[in-house]
Amino acid sequence: MNEILVFGHKNPDTDSITAAYIMANLQNKLGNNAKACRLGNLNKETKFVFDYLNLELPELIEEVAEKDVILVDHNEFSQSADKIEEANIKMVVDHHRIANFQTSEPLFYRAEPVGCTSTILAKLYKENNVEITKEIATLMLSAIVSDTLLFKSPTCTKEDEQTARDLAKIAEIDIEKYGLDMLKAGTDLSDLTAEELISLDAKPFNMNGLNVKIAQVSTASIEEMLTRKDEIENAMKNEIEKDSLNLFFVAITDIINSNSQVIALGENASLVEKAFNVTLENNTAFLEGVVSRKKQIVPVLEKNA
Ligand code: MN
Ligand code: MN
Repeated sequence: MNEILVFGHKNPDTDSITAAYIMANLQNKLGNNAKACRLGNLNKETKFVFDYLNLELPELIEEVAEKDVILVDHNEFSQSADKIEEANIKMVVDHHRIANFQTSEPLFYRAEPVGCTSTILAKLYKENNVEITKEIATLMLSAIVSDTLLFKSPTCTKEDEQTARDLAKIAEIDIEKYGLDMLKAGTDLSDLTAEELISLDAKPFNMNGLNVKIAQVSTASIEEMLTRKDEIENAMKNEIEKDSLNLFFVAITDIINSNSQVIALGENASLVEKAFNVTLENNTAFLEGVVSRKKQIVPVLEKNA
């Protein structure tokens, strides 16, 4: 039996790393030969989770030509492994828009408009009668807390919250306390260079022919992050040049108060003003109540692109 590589998107977040682990575990329990992989380094939030459980990390890989693969937490090829076009995609489990995706063979595709991949994975475990252990429950609830910012993001559905609270019982975790500790661990970015900061959670999008990159940085204080604005802008300018970006959108997201500050650069930066009805002053503007790239940034920019 061919080995199946399971992985989430590049610049992985907690959902992408944990979903690879959880899905590989499910496949192995069902008698397949699966291996959890990742397409990048762990951020501090995800590291907090793996340290908490003392778990081995998914294996770092880059390209997947001719490999059997399962994609979790993404489907767009531009966000996936190198040479994904030459891989044999067996399955996708995801909660994003479907774009820039095509296969030559039939596949199992599970997409639901929920706040986190793990909300779907918890259902897959139940449907397949595979036990959700304490460890798997902890991974799943960590992903839900991460993707929904502890249920405060507009992407969070009732089902996400209910699933996380049920998992917390299995994991024997106080989800409010654990969740806040975990999110806060992710905001300690002081030792990162500006280049690392803006690539930690960055995703490329093609919007009506425009080359757009949207990065998100979590913080407990927007003000504190803005003390590094010059440094961040210089790093953004280098990326714009290197990747021929029309717009680089960096959202500095306050996870405590659920707002974002955008820094926008590139020849199409005015798209941000039009889309959000704001004025950029020194390339930046406050976006009240905006925390979700998927629901509050990508569709708004795309509609105006
Ligand atoms: Mn993700
Ligand atoms: Mn996700």
